[in-house]
Amino acid sequence: MVFCGRVYNLEKFPFFMKKKKPATNPKLSSQQCHVLYEKGTEAPFTGKWLYNKEKGNYRCASCGAELFSSDTKFDSGSGWPSFSDANKKNIELKDDHSYGMQRIEVLCKNCGGHLGHLFDDGPGPTKKRYCINSVSLDFEKKEKVRKELKKDEKRKK
Ligand code: FE
Repeated sequence: MVFCGRVYNLEKFPFFMKKKKPATNPKLSSQQCHVLYEKGTEAPFTGKWLYNKEKGNYRCASCGAELFSSDTKFDSGSGWPSFSDANKKNIELKDDHSYGMQRIEVLCKNCGGHLGHLFDDGPGPTKKRYCINSVSLDFEKKEKVRKELKKDEKRKK
């Protein structure tokens, strides 16, 4: 199967066939394809969402599934966007023994795209740190919320 200008072996990447909603965004860059479908990692401190503090939702860059809320985003100092919680119905966790490490891989349940890893050193009640590649995410600003807040401000005046 050819996707993102790359040839993928379907035996190695079975999620292209198995998932209900396969990767459909034809505009993914080759870096995005590398991270999402070859389990790559963007260089730390380079991702475009690392310092994003706007309110909104983070979606899968490939299929659009809603994955993380800005409410759970925190600065972990790791160099990757970090979240203390996830939209678990769209997240799949898998044991990952690659590179001689024992980690938990975080995947998009919808399209099988690789997002990052999950660690147990996060803040708050969950104690979780979802360490996620920026290139695996799209950000959707919460415009509606903002408009409503403005209305409230006007009402108070
Ligand atoms: Fe996805």
